[in-house]
Amino acid sequence: MEKQDQLLMKKQNRLLVLELIRTMSPISRIQLSKVTKMSPTSITRIVQELQEEGFVRESLIESTSIGRRPTLLELCPDVLYTVGVELDRRIVRVGLVDFLGELVDFKIFQRKSQESYRETLNNIHEKTLQIINENQIEMKKVIGLGVGLPGSIDYEKGIVKISEQLQWGNIPLADDLKELTTHNVIIDNELKMKIIAENTIGQSIDSDNCILLGIGSGIGAAILLHGEVHRGTSNNAGEIGHTVIDPNGLICHCGKVGCLSTYISESAIIADANKVKPIHSIEEVYDAYRSKETWACNIMDRVTTYIALAVSNMACLYEPEYIILSGHLIDELPGIGKFIEEKCDRYIWQSIRQNLKIVYSKLGSEGVVRGAAIQAQKVLLDL
Ligand SMILES: [Zn+2]
Repeated sequence: MEKQDQLLMKKQNRLLVLELIRTMSPISRIQLSKVTKMSPTSITRIVQELQEEGFVRESLIESTSIGRRPTLLELCPDVLYTVGVELDRRIVRVGLVDFLGELVDFKIFQRKSQESYRETLNNIHEKTLQIINENQIEMKKVIGLGVGLPGSIDYEKGIVKISEQLQWGNIPLADDLKELTTHNVIIDNELKMKIIAENTIGQSIDSDNCILLGIGSGIGAAILLHGEVHRGTSNNAGEIGHTVIDPNGLICHCGKVGCLSTYISESAIIADANKVKPIHSIEEVYDAYRSKETWACNIMDRVTTYIALAVSNMACLYEPEYIILSGHLIDELPGIGKFIEEKCDRYIWQSIRQNLKIVYSKLGSEGVVRGAAIQAQKVLLDL
């Protein structure tokens, strides 16, 4: 075997052992050997290396097996950290995440509507420093930043190609932020970051085929196939908001006619509500729905129909095990789920429906931040 191949295999074996300790912890060396089919000698050697480097420690939990009790292993949460950032039009969220993917601290701050690109970068930098210092984390333990934001993102080059919400186009966000913070930075579309969180700590841990649907100021999806984010040719796969559902419908901000997002985005809902009475925010519509005002019930009835159609279309195309519904609408009106599911029962082909679980994200406003930080860890951790 070539030297290079040996090194690669060694790295892959170490990653595999680390990943198994993460997902099956606390776990014994014997169990690791059984699951990986590696020899006990190899496992002992790899574990010893990982222990010396500070990634793994012996657990205080005792094994319940009879006879000689094997020592159990777990990850050291504080060996390294990453910072996750979610950027939106009006809000920026910054979170410090440990090696286990747990959120150590979380900060939310407003982004002014007229804020310049530089101001936003400076604010992220300031909050990142603040969160690291306040938690007394050694700077060398922070291996990088992950940023999730809406728009079309070249995640390999770290470039924001276009973000309608942020009004940014063709900017090297990863490089600019790296220059400012001196940390390595990865960026991606916010839903593609969020599905990493769902798959690692959220609703689809046990599945490699799932779809996350985000319903809020816009609508979009992230698709995970065989454990990998499905990206398409230029990382825009999942932009379900711009599937055309009525060629005679309303004009969309993308320039086309009848896109799904023209029916269920927050601005579309507010515009519809204003045909009945003056409404300024989506919260007013949700309040009216909670008070069972007829017009609000009618609007939301139509919204759930379109969501169910989106779920049905995604289910037929990819046949995932889970479709995770998330976003502001789902967080604010959790009771609406049962109406969506009833309509899904009606619209989705039975052969697909019977194996599909429709679930709801529980990560709330932390989802993108945690996903971005976990993804940063996966990409930047050099074993
Ligand atoms: Zn469109």
